[in-house]
Order: sequence, then C-alpha cells, then structure tokens
Amino acid sequence: MVDHRASPGLPEHIARWAGYDPKQTGEGKVFEVDTLKCFNCHGHVVPNPQRTRERHSYKGNYVCDNCAYLLSQPDYVHTPLAKLYDKLKTQAMLGSSPGLLTSQ
Ligand SMILES: [Zn+2]
Repeated sequence: MVDHRASPGLPEHIARWAGYDPKQTGEGKVFEVDTLKCFNCHGHVVPNPQRTRERHSYKGNYVCDNCAYLLSQPDYVHTPLAKLYDKLKTQAMLGSSPGLLTSQ
C-alpha cells in the first residue's frame, strides 16, 4: 500500500516511470496492490503491469530479479534466509562484525 492521504502524491511523470497509474498515486490517494514475495530474500515486489519479461521462479515459487541472477551463478549455494539470520545472531552474540560473515 502506498498512502498519499497526507502527502502531495507522486508527480505524474514519476508515477509513470515507476509503473504506477498516476490516477492511483496522486494527492489524497491510497494505492493498494497484491505484491510478490521473493522465495529467496523474502523481499516484496510491486508487479509492474507493463512488464513483458518473464518472471523468475525457484522450485515453483516467485524469485525477484536480483535473486534470479544470484541463483543463476554456477558457484551459488542456496542457504535458507532463516539459517542466515541464525548465523548472524550467533556471530553478533560472539561480538563478530556482520561484515565478517560469509555465505557458507
Ligand atoms: Zn529476492
């Protein structure tokens, strides 16, 4: 949801550039749309209705463009996001910088 009830809204050219219908993102408008959740990073994507490229999937689930690129790399090793969070928490408790984490 993009709420412009208390904002001037998006200028028409910005709304069009971002793939929104300017009538739905102007001053006082509330824009709601079903989003796509990426299976890999759990990010949410607002689908662009003008997109003509195929959307990616992994094991039958939607994958965002960034993750699709990562998954296509020959040295990619999939690690569930929950496992990465657990590793980050463990490293933080041990006082290690998150920047020292690796994907393995
Ligand atoms: Zn993703």
